[in-house]
Amino acid sequence: MQALCVVNGSMQKVPEEWTEREREMERPVRSGGEEDRETLMMELTRLVQKTVKESSWWEKRGIDCSILAMAFISLPAAFLLLGSSQVVWFVLGLLVMGVAHAVITVKGTHLSSHGALSESAVWGQFWAIFFIEVCGSFTARAGVKAHVKMHHAHTNVIGLGDSSTWKVPFLPRIMYLFIAPLAVPIITPIVAVGQLKGQPLWAVVRTVVCVSLGVYSQYILLRCVSGLECGPALLVMLLSRAMFSLPYIHVNIFQHIGLPMFSPNRRPKRIYQMSHGVLNLPRNPLLDWTFGHSLINCHVEHHLFPSLSDNMCLKVKPIVSRYLKEKSLPYQEDSYLSRLSLFFHKYQELMVCAPPITELVGVQ
Ligand SMILES: [Zn+2]
Repeated sequence: MQALCVVNGSMQKVPEEWTEREREMERPVRSGGEEDRETLMMELTRLVQKTVKESSWWEKRGIDCSILAMAFISLPAAFLLLGSSQVVWFVLGLLVMGVAHAVITVKGTHLSSHGALSESAVWGQFWAIFFIEVCGSFTARAGVKAHVKMHHAHTNVIGLGDSSTWKVPFLPRIMYLFIAPLAVPIITPIVAVGQLKGQPLWAVVRTVVCVSLGVYSQYILLRCVSGLECGPALLVMLLSRAMFSLPYIHVNIFQHIGLPMFSPNRRPKRIYQMSHGVLNLPRNPLLDWTFGHSLINCHVEHHLFPSLSDNMCLKVKPIVSRYLKEKSLPYQEDSYLSRLSLFFHKYQELMVCAPPITELVGVQ
């Protein structure tokens, strides 16, 4: 069978770099059919589980918990530095607070939403509420539903996990890519209030109390420990919370939008869905620490094995990449600047127009 790609119902030539992969992907279909396709994911899962079982607690959770703990431990120094009248120390304090905020609210909320910080379900729930609501100013129920139950379960499936919630088509590209993300700290709690509709009263009360507690405690510490007036304290809160907003929005759109999108009725098997619909960025020391490997250089591994911590995603990365390459499946990687350039130049096509549907002929 010739490798072909069906986009929006009509046969189209697949991109040059796909042709060989698509042809290769048909091998299991010819040799064994449905059973072979199922065993690919099972075989990879076995390989990954073997490594996980051989890993220590330190590797599985300790390293990531320590990074999160270090972010909290750095906060007293940040508050004290922000009280300095010397510009250099003040700016250093702002930087420390911004980095710590990103570690806690991006890496912390993401890992806790997947229950990757604890083996206990009760502690997992506690950490999700603490990181998402108290630190991230969002609702844990809506956050987990949108990220884990929709985006992960239906990655790149149109109308379900197609990343369309990140699109704001009425915004021009410069505004969307470089200016609007700075408003994320203000937009987040507003969106959270909208998400409270339809939730049980106890969940609404809990979210309002937790979000208020998080915002108010940062404000009161800036007033009392750093000695800032009301206006400067609010400005510091905005700047520290918006410091990583640009890469946060960028990363969320770079790793899925522009890749194959699937129809809800003809979705491919999981291993094809994730290998085609997810992309890894290269390692980046700052983003590896603040956002975590699962959102940066191990996003493919994270989508295949979402309950693994950042460090475990990094550990199984050679196994996953080798396996996908051996099976002639895509292992998609691109640089941050290359993706930024793509989204800048193809903004209309990628972020405004409806995405085309890809059908992987022979593997669905
Ligand atoms: Zn995730």
